[in-house]
Amino acid sequence: MAIRKRCPRCGGNLEVLRTFSHCSGCFYFEDYWSDPEIENLKALREAKEMISYNENEINSKEEAEQDEKDCA
Ligand SMILES: [Zn+2]
Repeated sequence: MAIRKRCPRCGGNLEVLRTFSHCSGCFYFEDYWSDPEIENLKALREAKEMISYNENEINSKEEAEQDEKDCA
């Protein structure tokens, strides 16, 4: 089901859909990047990056400890 709004460019009928809206009069087009599915994907990717960063931190700490043991 489409919601109809006024087109900000030509004042005509703007057809608003779930992921984008468009105007049939002047071909004005809008994307909705705040779509919850896209936000979830972004949050997942950021969480994965944080986990891999923490793993690198732990590995470098273990290596440093081993070096100290070798010296002593
Ligand atoms: Zn328009």
